[in-house]
Amino acid sequence: SVYLDVNSSAPIDERVLEFMIEIYKDGYGNADSRTHNYGDNARKIVENARRQVAELLNVESGEIFFTSGATESNNIAIQGMKAYAKKNKRNHIITTTIEHKAILETIKEMEKEGFEVDFVAPGEDGSVSAEEIIGLVRKETLLVSVMHVNNETGIIQPVKEIGKELSETDVFFHVDATQSAGKLVEELQELDYDMLSLSAHKLNGPQGVGALVLRKQNYTLPPIKGIMYGGQQEHGIRPGTIPVALVAGLGEACKIAAVEYIGNNGRCAELKKILMNCLEESGLEYKINGDPEKCIHNTINVVISGVSAEALMLATKEYCSISNGSACNTKSYEPSYVLKAMKVPIDEIESSIRISWGPNIDSRKVEKQFKKTLEVAKGLVF
Ligand code: PLP
Repeated sequence: SVYLDVNSSAPIDERVLEFMIEIYKDGYGNADSRTHNYGDNARKIVENARRQVAELLNVESGEIFFTSGATESNNIAIQGMKAYAKKNKRNHIITTTIEHKAILETIKEMEKEGFEVDFVAPGEDGSVSAEEIIGLVRKETLLVSVMHVNNETGIIQPVKEIGKELSETDVFFHVDATQSAGKLVEELQELDYDMLSLSAHKLNGPQGVGALVLRKQNYTLPPIKGIMYGGQQEHGIRPGTIPVALVAGLGEACKIAAVEYIGNNGRCAELKKILMNCLEESGLEYKINGDPEKCIHNTINVVISGVSAEALMLATKEYCSISNGSACNTKSYEPSYVLKAMKVPIDEIESSIRISWGPNIDSRKVEKQFKKTLEVAKGLVF
């Protein structure tokens, strides 16, 4: 079956994997061991990876902090501000109702602890309003956290406008760029932000590693404290032995993305046209969730009217591997909170599937398998 679920996890690039295997074989050593060559060698590999991540994002190496992935980066970025918030009596946070759970659940916990939170809902186009967010900023506002690309709909959020406005203020701006890193490369390079999260496995790197980017303003990093206690790795922001091969895999994936993203994006956009054509020609009644003009090139979230998404996915498993949204929610088959926030009616939510793909997939094969899937869908219309 063709893999059309890269937004939940993308396949590792063979070149990244081979590079990592060499490091697992020969690169062992603790990057913080200072008394022998094994440590020195590991440290060199880690610092090379740090430079590669920094180059993709057009930031300095010293602004990259390795973590176990975007969930951890998001937690550190947000919870890590507590001490500063208390000291400066700034307890107001602004975020959106369509963030990943790693943001929403973290911020909801902080709300229980006394933070005041504004959760901004998107419009029917799937995008939040920059104006609305900026309009909520007040003197106690500590932090604004908005994702770049939504993982379920692919809708690009107005982080550019928000970042520009906030750069004139002392409010910290965090961007969850998990779905855009390595894809919307120029947009990220030009973005104004204080903190940014990413996960390696969404850009064809390994699972279990990611980065938190902390931008220096006037030579100082955002006032973040680590949320675990331990060694001084990553300046104490993320203590624990650095997983050298994983970090190297992230670096290599960033290096490859920086060179290949234009071609990759082009191929993904081509495949989107093919998939849209298949939908159009199928004769099925369908509707795209969110404004297609604001959607990233590798994602479609579509309502196939009168067809149960769950039944369709199970019936067509052998053709296409797709999902109905976030992998974190599929266990319970709960209707998507993202689509709910966009005021998609419940029957349409239950008929919505998310298709997401990478650049190296065989587009002819995808076309064939997707057509078969749509044929099955026709039989499921009630
Ligand atoms: N943020 C977004 C937007 C995501 O799509 C994901 C993963 O689905 C995450 C954060 C969490 O990433 P990870 O599971 O690698 O920690």
